[in-house]
Amino acid sequence: MRHKGIFFDRDGVINDNKRPVNKPKDLILYEGVKEALKKAYEAGYDLFIVTNQGGIELGHITHEDLKNIHDSLKEELVGYCNIREIAYCPDFKKFSHRRKPEPGMLLELAEKYDIDLGLSWMVGDMETDITAGIRAGCRTVKIGKPDERADINEMNVKKSTSVKVDLKAVVEEIIKNDSQGFLN
Ligand SMILES: [Mg+2]
Repeated sequence: MRHKGIFFDRDGVINDNKRPVNKPKDLILYEGVKEALKKAYEAGYDLFIVTNQGGIELGHITHEDLKNIHDSLKEELVGYCNIREIAYCPDFKKFSHRRKPEPGMLLELAEKYDIDLGLSWMVGDMETDITAGIRAGCRTVKIGKPDERADINEMNVKKSTSVKVDLKAVVEEIIKNDSQGFLN
């Protein structure tokens, strides 16, 4: 059976993006994110992170810096969930089929892990995330400012006013959506 997945953008979705993330200690998860990812993982979704990291092409960070950041992130999530893969696009000015709004990273991961994109979701805080998700054939969730193209807008489902991003409410809404779809 093919799997269902959730593709999460990184900066502004799972971690604070007010400052550049150049070292492991710069990556600060939003409150409640680990619990939200755990909920999604336990509900049977394969979890991925897809992130544009044009800072590599621009020379702000190296591939190795990014690997250290992502290794540390995976370590922080031990006991909550397993992220199957963190994919990134290092290009910035140069056109790349992998750089969102292009759907390349999602398509590659779907192929590699046998993910049914029609059963899957892209969660992001930028219009380019929503475009990439739609182009890949996923349903989409917009964090922050609503996007009328998105299937779910975080602002409409947000329950906690004390958190910057209510990823838990988003995951609950995804699960609810999918279980309703299943019953119909
Ligand atoms: Mg983002």
